[in-house]
Amino acid sequence: MSAKVHAFEPSGRRVLTVVGRGGEHWVDPEARACSCASYHYRGPPCAHIEAALGGDPETVTFSDDEYDEFVRGLLEDIWGEHARQGQGAP
Ligand SMILES: [Zn+2]
Repeated sequence: MSAKVHAFEPSGRRVLTVVGRGGEHWVDPEARACSCASYHYRGPPCAHIEAALGGDPETVTFSDDEYDEFVRGLLEDIWGEHARQGQGAP
């Protein structure tokens, strides 16, 4: 799994994602939080958090103009995985 830091300029916002089997996940390594279904249903640490903490993530710089579209695409990925994993859950 590969961790990637998306750095948005000039605001300095940073979003760390890890691409895994279920798609791309939003990881907050300091809070030990991840957007994946495994984290939400089984708790930390999931493989994405370990990947984020374990390596030196690649940093890719984007413009703030791209932030909204980036987050929208990321959330669609996350919701898609939760919809698949959450089937049968209350
Ligand atoms: Zn995860």
